[in-house]
Amino acid sequence: MDRKVIFQKKSGSNDPGYIGKTQVPLVDPEDILGPKLLRKGLSLPQLGELSVVRHYLNLAKLNFSVDTNFYPLGSCTMKYNPKINEALAALEGFSEIHPYQEPQAVQGALELIYQLNVLLCEITGMKQFSFQASSGAQGELTGLLMIHKFHQSAGNRKTKVIIPDSAHGTNPATAAMCGYKVVVVESDASGLVDMEKLRLAVDEETAAIMLTNPNTLGLFEENILEIADIVHQKGGFLYYDGANFNPLLGITNPAKMGFDLVHLNLHKTFSTPHGSGGPGLGAVGVGDKLIDFLPVPLVVKREDNYYFDYCLKNSIGRLRAFYGNFSVLIRAYAYILRLGQEGLLRVAKNSVVNANYLKEKLRNYYCLPYPKACMHEVVFSAESQKEKGASALDIAKRLIDYRIHPPTIYFPLIVKEALMIEPTETESKETLDKFIEVMLEINREIELDLERVKNSPQSAPVKRVDEVRAARFPDLRWRG
Ligand SMILES: *Cc1c(COP(=O)(O)O)cnc(C)c1O
Repeated sequence: MDRKVIFQKKSGSNDPGYIGKTQVPLVDPEDILGPKLLRKGLSLPQLGELSVVRHYLNLAKLNFSVDTNFYPLGSCTMKYNPKINEALAALEGFSEIHPYQEPQAVQGALELIYQLNVLLCEITGMKQFSFQASSGAQGELTGLLMIHKFHQSAGNRKTKVIIPDSAHGTNPATAAMCGYKVVVVESDASGLVDMEKLRLAVDEETAAIMLTNPNTLGLFEENILEIADIVHQKGGFLYYDGANFNPLLGITNPAKMGFDLVHLNLHKTFSTPHGSGGPGLGAVGVGDKLIDFLPVPLVVKREDNYYFDYCLKNSIGRLRAFYGNFSVLIRAYAYILRLGQEGLLRVAKNSVVNANYLKEKLRNYYCLPYPKACMHEVVFSAESQKEKGASALDIAKRLIDYRIHPPTIYFPLIVKEALMIEPTETESKETLDKFIEVMLEINREIELDLERVKNSPQSAPVKRVDEVRAARFPDLRWRG
């Protein structure tokens, strides 16, 4: 169909209309849409400006965010995102450029991509990053597609990917998407990969082991060098799910731990507001062996000029259009430059101190199935509360009444009634103490007023929802 500009015909007039200086024909919408589709009128509410302002401000106040409330959502790293990042990402030179502009016209943007690559290589020990993937999960996909292509081009017969039972669900999903058989290795009693079981699982057909370190229990995999040896001896890769890299910043890096490739969730560790499907970025970094397999293009520098390099012989191709979620790169770059090496080290240490503080203060009240010193997060079990009638879900919902975002619950899967708490480094001792007080109060309520906990939240606009129904038939209309 021809593209036509539709203008409302002025009654009785045949004057042409203009868009800028271009003359366009006047067309009667009814001629094109027909009478059936044409609306006769629009019933809009007649409201004064003040009513509209109040309506939207009150809606905005219902938001639960890191900026308004403590948000210890385990594994998601809901740290405070400095506002300077937002100001920089909004600079016209970044926000108003178009992906079709010639590289020569967007040298600043390309330089930022190039420099961020340099910084992340230094931080992780990898040799080259790609910034195309829009999430951690997509970073995993990028990584496993590269591994797959590597083995294929080397003529290796590799059929399986090894994943610990504490892994994030995206790991097995990614491996399965790439056509691999997923082999799950159980954790041992201390919460680490069971080395005996791992040795039995890894063989010549192992394409890779996917691992996060610290793992999702918040525990550092102490045998990581041995794990690397085991998989490398069989010609497999060690893939680093870098979602938990926060507590290791500046202390160690995936290359030193023996990993061959990594993804970093820039939106988590390197500070971009995320959640509710906001923009993410899974930066994928590789060592020498896999550089040639990265997605194209990469940003390269020659004689002070930056441009796109498409010449990777074995590239898996493009993962998405243009530059990826470029604004996340700006925020990550600003965040790293602002903190510097010392600042990043402080991030790591404080995230560990904060989690261990919560662990020690709450361990007498909530079960701690894996009592080792934790890293950036701590996983409790609400098993003893469950015996008294309150599940992890009930506790999570009750926290909302205290204006605290629930922790991650029922994950990792190996902990019954899991409460996975990640305070992050940006919270003060006062906030942590308040949280501890609330957790103890809820524990008391379970003894004294179980119904109140079971019927929570009471103070939120939406009360207890039917979880299954909410997932199957979401109803997003506002009934204020
Ligand atoms: C968040 C997370 C992922 C997935 O990252 P997304 O950006 O949400 O796709 C993978 N693994 C772990 C351990 C995570 O915490």
